[in-house]
Amino acid sequence: MTEFNYYEILEVSKDCNGTELKKSYRKLAMKYHPDRNPDDKAAEDKFKQINEAYQALSNEEKRAIYDRYGKEGLDRQGGGRPSGGMDDVMDIFNSMFGGGGGGGFGSGFGQTRRDPSQKYALDFEIELPLKFHEAVFGCEKQVDITYKIPCNDCKGTGAKDGKMDTCDYCGGQGQVVMRQGPMTFAQTCPQCQGKGKKIVKKCVSCHGKGYKTKDETVTIKIPAGVDSGNRLRAQGYGNEDRHGRRGDLYLTFYVEEDATFVRNGNDIYIEVPVFFTQAILGGEITIPSLDGELQLDLKPGTKDKEQFIFDNEGVIDVHNKRKGRLIVQVQLKLPKKLNDEQEKLLLKLQESFGVESSPHKSSLENAFDSVKGWFKGE
Ligand SMILES: [Zn+2]
Ligand SMILES: [Zn+2]
Repeated sequence: MTEFNYYEILEVSKDCNGTELKKSYRKLAMKYHPDRNPDDKAAEDKFKQINEAYQALSNEEKRAIYDRYGKEGLDRQGGGRPSGGMDDVMDIFNSMFGGGGGGGFGSGFGQTRRDPSQKYALDFEIELPLKFHEAVFGCEKQVDITYKIPCNDCKGTGAKDGKMDTCDYCGGQGQVVMRQGPMTFAQTCPQCQGKGKKIVKKCVSCHGKGYKTKDETVTIKIPAGVDSGNRLRAQGYGNEDRHGRRGDLYLTFYVEEDATFVRNGNDIYIEVPVFFTQAILGGEITIPSLDGELQLDLKPGTKDKEQFIFDNEGVIDVHNKRKGRLIVQVQLKLPKKLNDEQEKLLLKLQESFGVESSPHKSSLENAFDSVKGWFKGE
C-alpha cells in the first residue's frame, strides 16, 4: 500500500477549515465518482482515497490525531464505538432525569405522540459546550434554558379567542395533491401546515404564535465519558403543552480541546518531549495522566515517535464503564546549540564508539561498489 497524504488527496491546505474541506471533497467526489467513471480502476481507487481522507479530516478528533500522529495514529485506535456520529443518543440515562419534570413518566410526551392542535414541538435541543475535564469525569451543570409555554389568552392556538376556521387552501384536509407530469403527490398543505384549520384573527397577546417563553435554570448531571456529538435526553425539561405537561430537552455536547491531552474516543494521546541523552540512556520519567501522574519507564535507546500504552488510563466508556488507554508518544528533543565543552564531550563520545559511530561507511560499502560497477559496464 502506498501512503498518501489526506490533505493532498483532498487538495486542501493543512489549515483549511471545515467548509473548505467539504467543498473540495464534494468537488473531487463528483469528479471521481464510479458512476461517472465506469470501468476506470484508477478513478475508483482515487474515489476510495478521497472518502477515506474525508472521513478522517471531517472529524475534529480524528483530524487532530492525524495531524500529530499520522495515519498510524488513526489505525491504532482500538475497536469500540464508531466515532463521528451524531447518533449516540443516550436514552440510557433517562432514569437520571425521571420525575424531574412536571409530568412524570409515560405517554403524552414528545414529537411522535403529538397532539395535532399543538402549535409547537414539545421536545427541543440545545448544544452544550463542555470543558475537556467535564466531559471526561462527568459533572453537574447549571444550564439556562428558554422553553415554550402555551399562550393562555388563545389556549395555545394562536387565534384570537381561540377561533379557528377551516383552511380554504386544502379544504380542511391538511393535504394538497400536486401534479407533475403523469405523477401526483400528496403534500402537506403549505397554508396550514397540515392542520386543516386557519386562524381567523391572530391572538394579540402572542402575535399568533400560540406560545410564550419562560426562562429556567436546570441542573443537569452529565455522566463521565461523554464526547462531542453525544446527545443526552433530559426528560421533562422540554416545552410545555396545554395540559401542563412538558416534553424533553435534548443536550448535544460539544467538548473543547485540551492543551495537553488529545482525545480519540476513549483513548487519550499525550506527546512527551524526551531529551536525546535521556532517550539513549533510558530511565523513568513522570508524566501527567488523567488522574494525576504516571511513571513512564523509558528503555535505553527509545526512538522518536515511539509509543507507550497504558491500559485503563483513558476515558471511562459512557455505556459500559470500561476505561480506554493512555497512549504516550515520545517526541525526541535534540539540543538547539552546543557550547565548546559540550561539543568536545560529544566528539569524545563519538570517537569512543569507533567503527560503530560511522555506520554509513560499513553498511553502504556494497552500494559504493555496485554504483562504480554500473559505469564500468559490468
Ligand atoms: Zn390547509
Ligand atoms: Zn395567544
